[in-house]
Amino acid sequence: MAAGHSALTVRLRAHHLLCMLTFVGEGYTPAFTANYRRIAERLSAGEEIEIVSGPDDICAPLMSQCSAHCLLPGPKARDEAAAEAVAKFLGVRIEQGARLIPDKALLKRLRRGFAADLTRKACEDCEWSELCSTVARDRFRNTLVAPC
Ligand code: SF4
Repeated sequence: MAAGHSALTVRLRAHHLLCMLTFVGEGYTPAFTANYRRIAERLSAGEEIEIVSGPDDICAPLMSQCSAHCLLPGPKARDEAAAEAVAKFLGVRIEQGARLIPDKALLKRLRRGFAADLTRKACEDCEWSELCSTVARDRFRNTLVAPC
């Protein structure tokens, strides 16, 4: 599809390249998880990912809250750590505008790196870290993006 058509890409901030690997339906609010499930379906169907800076398609339902967590420095630092680690692990550039196809091979590779703790610096101090570690130990069972 033509470049620049964001409606046909899933817009993700860099640290969500990690979070999408362990999503099992949990999240901050019912609206957040409902939206995330729809994104998981699109990713599972192989829809292209476009890396963005700041709040993305997953953050969208939280953006109406005055305390939108997604705009805070914490998530931004996570993006930087994730972009660096994932870029190094995959050997590709992960920066604003970069595009990735979430096919089985990519997800498998990313999950291997995640489980081996090669890409998880961004997870430091994340409130979901224990859940994500358990999911990885469980070989990503019940995850909603391209279940393997
Ligand atoms: S621990 Fe947090 S940052 Fe890491 S994958 Fe899980 S939800 Fe995402």
